[in-house]
Amino acid sequence: MTPEEILTHIRNIPNFPKQGILFKDITTAIQKPEVFHAIIDNMYDKVKNLEFDYIAAIESRGYLFGAPLAYKMNKGLVLIRKPGKLPAKVVRQEYSLEYGTDALEMHEDAIARGQKVLLIDDLLATGGTVKAAAGLIDQVGGKVTGGLFLLELKALSSQANLPFSVYSLIKC
Ligand code: AMP
Repeated sequence: MTPEEILTHIRNIPNFPKQGILFKDITTAIQKPEVFHAIIDNMYDKVKNLEFDYIAAIESRGYLFGAPLAYKMNKGLVLIRKPGKLPAKVVRQEYSLEYGTDALEMHEDAIARGQKVLLIDDLLATGGTVKAAAGLIDQVGGKVTGGLFLLELKALSSQANLPFSVYSLIKC
């Protein structure tokens, strides 16, 4: 299944969670096993030749793709979480989204100095979320190899100026 075919299984919800946002609903894609397989297999093809030690997945939809990809690639999975969820000592980074503001946290001992990390999330819009995630990796001395996304909203991401490579399956 091609990325274009995968896109036909992603539902557009206008004005969610607020007016003016066209929400890309991936639930309709991942509930079909053949589409979920195709997403992970296409993601694998995008990053199979990259060098990295960990996949760091961004809560919460990043987990849906980060976990099976880490399993398939035999890489460690690091969780980047919303505030207050991780039990041990964390590093923290504030950020702003397409809608609202928030912060992300990661265990400070999750990644050692010099280790290479592939960030993963479902969607890249303004880049604020993945930049904050990259900030966490920087804080502990890790190195971001790239950011992997199922969807990239071109109109917004073109302004993002991310200091690492972006690998997206579908630009729309
Ligand atoms: P941004 O920080 O602007 O790049 O936004 C990316 C984050 O917000 C991702 O974690 C997405 O899950 C979520 N997000 C932003 N815009 C949308 C959208 N139009 N549809 C679905 N999720 C979105």
